[in-house]
Amino acid sequence: MVTATAPEQNVKIGPTQLLINNEWVESATGRRFETINPATGEVICDVAEADAPDVDRAVQAARAAFESGEWRTMSASSRGRLLYKLADLIEQNKEELARLESLDNGKPLGESMNGDLPLTIACYRYYAGWADKIEGKTIPINGPYFCYTRHEPVGVVGQIIPWNFPLLMQAWKLAPALAAGNTVILKVAEQTPLTALRVGELILEAGFPPGVVNILPGYGPTAGGAIASHPDINKLAFTGSTEVGHLVMEQAAKTNLKRVTLELGGKSPNIVFADADMDAAIEGVHHGLFFNQGQCCNAGSRVFVEEKCYDEFVAKCVERAKQRTVGDPFDAKTKQGPQVDQAQFDKIMSYIEAGQREGAKMLCGGNRIGDRGFFVEPTVFADVDNSMKIAQEEIFGPVMSIIKFKDIDEAIRLGNTTMYGLAAGVWTKDIAKAHAIAHNVRAGTVWVNCYHVFDAAAPFGGFKQSGIGRELGEYCLENYTEVKTVTVQL
Ligand code: NAD
Repeated sequence: MVTATAPEQNVKIGPTQLLINNEWVESATGRRFETINPATGEVICDVAEADAPDVDRAVQAARAAFESGEWRTMSASSRGRLLYKLADLIEQNKEELARLESLDNGKPLGESMNGDLPLTIACYRYYAGWADKIEGKTIPINGPYFCYTRHEPVGVVGQIIPWNFPLLMQAWKLAPALAAGNTVILKVAEQTPLTALRVGELILEAGFPPGVVNILPGYGPTAGGAIASHPDINKLAFTGSTEVGHLVMEQAAKTNLKRVTLELGGKSPNIVFADADMDAAIEGVHHGLFFNQGQCCNAGSRVFVEEKCYDEFVAKCVERAKQRTVGDPFDAKTKQGPQVDQAQFDKIMSYIEAGQREGAKMLCGGNRIGDRGFFVEPTVFADVDNSMKIAQEEIFGPVMSIIKFKDIDEAIRLGNTTMYGLAAGVWTKDIAKAHAIAHNVRAGTVWVNCYHVFDAAAPFGGFKQSGIGRELGEYCLENYTEVKTVTVQL
């Protein structure tokens, strides 16, 4: 059953100012902006709006913290202990943070509690463990020399994150950067600033020295642009759309050649062979696309189904989508909440229209639910051609496109016919087919008989225009360290 009721309002709102140099401050302009409850369209509260002068101030604080004082001289294991402490504090405030996340973002409370929060806590703990294990090498060069490498922090890091997993994206960014000894200016998404700021409060409680973590809510072209083009930021880590990825990389190149890593969009193929466990595949494909209201960069948004099982699979997929419970994120029965804001809602509805115009068969969904908030019916298109707009552009909503294929070669060819390369899934009992897909699909992650499996230890990132660099795992630390070669005459 589909319902869209008002979410519970009994959620504690944390800080709403900028965090600079361990102090809560208003923005230099004094401007504030509203953050909206996506389930009702009502204002939750307003928040200080950072702009270029605030970025400047935060960079000065981060630079001072990096160049001198407590952080610079702190042992690596003490940095690790601070991160462990932060993880513990987040865990102690887990329920409060989950409620705030669901209020600001619209995701079902059960998912915030059982998905976002545990993954966030695990990420801080994982990198806490790395802090004193970032090691160089000794290198046997020719001659009477002793040559070794040191992996030093890059310096002042600017980080820009999106709204789809606010707490988790904050953890993916802060944890490795801090473990490696950098200082940070983090710009959070304008749609979802609240949980990041509450974590800011916990960062103060954990005892991070002033200037190490600075948190700025604000808009992309202003605060985000000021970070991308700042001459004294050494590295930029950006997660968001491919379109903005192009822009920030250009700004970084035009200014000081700051190092750039990008986690961008996707149009990931989820490939189902006729020999798969059909029930598992239906469930995996459903979850692969509809999870988090379809707002996942790695969503399995192009579902490729082998001709031999196509009709049966499509029918079951549509049945499954129709059963999805959409409604109040605070209702325990809800599996799908609202989209994050009006802009995303409008974008999704325009893709649904485009799919119909281009001749794909819409078998369920397609409408708004209710008359307030940003709820969209789970929508399934079949008989999609891989060249259609809905198969090539990122929708970032609950809209599935199903495409028929004949054999494995066609599945690989069509799967790779996209500018993206973030993730892929394959459903089969044939291990040879599974590996053939895993080795030939150009994507940063391939899931075999599963989807959306994340772990802080497993690297994640994109091929092609899905990004540059990897987050998570040991690989991520490369983004946050410079290698220094030291050669000593013996
Ligand atoms: P977006 O690129 O507009 O916004 C992302 C962030 O960038 C926000 O903080 C925003 O304020 C900022 N930003 C916007 N314009 C900017 C500019 N000109 N300069 C600097 N910063 C700017 O993306 P969105 O549409 O809000 O978010 C959804 C997108 O993010 C999707 O395309 C999705 O695929 C992508 N995403 C990718 C990943 C990943 O890990 N690869 C994760 C989450 C989201």
